[in-house]
Order: sequence, then structure tokens, then C-alpha cells
Amino acid sequence: MSCPLSIFKKTKKYLLCVDSDGCAMDTMNIKHIKCFGPKFAEVFNITENVQAVLDRWNDINLYEITRGINRFKGLAQILCELNPRDAERLAFKEWADGAKELSESSLKNKIEEGGGDIFKKALLWSQLTNAAIAELSDDDKKAFEGVREALKEARNTFDIAIVSSANFAAVKEEWERCKLLELTDCITTQQDGSKAYCIAELIKKGYEPSDVVMVGDALGDLEAAEKNSVSFYPILVNREEESWRNIGNALEGFVSGKKLDFKEQFTKNFK
Ligand SMILES: [Mg+2]
Repeated sequence: MSCPLSIFKKTKKYLLCVDSDGCAMDTMNIKHIKCFGPKFAEVFNITENVQAVLDRWNDINLYEITRGINRFKGLAQILCELNPRDAERLAFKEWADGAKELSESSLKNKIEEGGGDIFKKALLWSQLTNAAIAELSDDDKKAFEGVREALKEARNTFDIAIVSSANFAAVKEEWERCKLLELTDCITTQQDGSKAYCIAELIKKGYEPSDVVMVGDALGDLEAAEKNSVSFYPILVNREEESWRNIGNALEGFVSGKKLDFKEQFTKNFK
């Protein structure tokens, strides 16, 4: 049964780290298509070419290499694309690019410092988006087909750790509800630190980096793997079920000494 990083103990030679949002859980499309995008159009009063703007939002956050970008960085990007010379938007982008912390509370500090209207709108957008996400039904937040079978099979050879930058309660609830938590051995989330940090801490439990695989859907997952010199297996956007179907063969090869070489396929699959 899954346990926190602090008490997790290695039981197998190999370790499989699995990201949650957009990787094991089919939760990213619905959040961006139904919540982030429409709330952006609402708060920033987009009245012309609405569909094109929403498509652009989805490209930035789902289908291009920027997939999984922090929400405020994504917001800064689309605001500046729509109006590249607007001083307020440029100020917001400067904040998003340079702030030590990107969160609603750091945004509130910026507003108190007199950051201006755009920061207030960004906060409102973030809050309305969170409320819309909370309204999604459980049916909207399911695991991709094939995840359960793949993890069950992998667990014969690998310890399995969730490595997610979402919050602990949400990850635990989703994996439990989808009956996947029971197939994992450790759960690491944003409370433990960055994905790269969590992989490093997991390795310290006694694995060779060459015996570790990170499974993810976004560039940040690949970078976290590379920072720790561990292998990477991608869950390709729009080809998630196929990716989960094929992971068994890839891991079988990995265990028998074949390198996982999916970096090019992963980056080329983005728009
Ligand atoms: Mg992800």
C-alpha cells in the first residue's frame, strides 16, 4: 500500500515513477477546455474570435511543448500574444517570469503593493477557475484506459511511486477513487518538493538511477528525469491509451537492458 516518502522503503530492484495529471489521470483536457479557457474569456472580456482564443489557450497548455506550464505563465503568454504592446500585460509577464513564487498568495501581495488591475483580474480568474474545477463531476476526472493493467503488470518488477506536482489530498482522492492507489508503493506531491527533488529522494532509498523510469506527459517530467539521470517514458498527448498499452513492452525491454529512447517521439508529438 502506498505510503509517504518519509517512511517508504525500497522492496524491488527497479522503480517506476508516475506523474498524475494528464499522465495517469485524464484530468488536464477537461480542466483547460471547460474551466481555465472559458474563465479566461469571461474575466478578460474576450468577445471577438472567442473560439480562436480558446483554441490558442488549449494549444499553449495542452498541445504544444509548453504543456503543463504554470497557470500564471500561461496566462501571461496568451495576454501578451493577444496584445503584445500593452504595458499592463508586459508588467504581468515580467512578474510571471521573475516571481520567486507563482501562486494566489504571491499575487495578492503584488496587488497590495499596487500591482494594478491586471493582477486583480488574474487572481479573480484563478479563483473562478478553481471553483469551476471543483464543480467537475467524478466522471470528468478518470484515469486513462489501460493504466490499471499497466501498473499491475509493472508492479511485478518495479516499486511504483506517484510523482506529482499537484496537492496531496487531490492526488490521493483521485488515485483512491480510481482504485489505482492500491497499486502504488509511495506517493509524493508538491508538499514534498519539485518532481526532480522527489525523484532524487526516492533514489536515495537505494536505487541505481539506471534502474529508475519516470513516466510523464510534459516537458517538466522529462527534465526531472534528466536531472536525475533516470530513464523517461512518455504518455503522448492525444495518444495516451496507446502509450499505456505499449508501456509493458518498453519496460520489459528496459529490464532486459534495452535503453528507453523516446525523447524525440515525445517532443515531435507536440504541435
Ligand atoms: Mg502531467
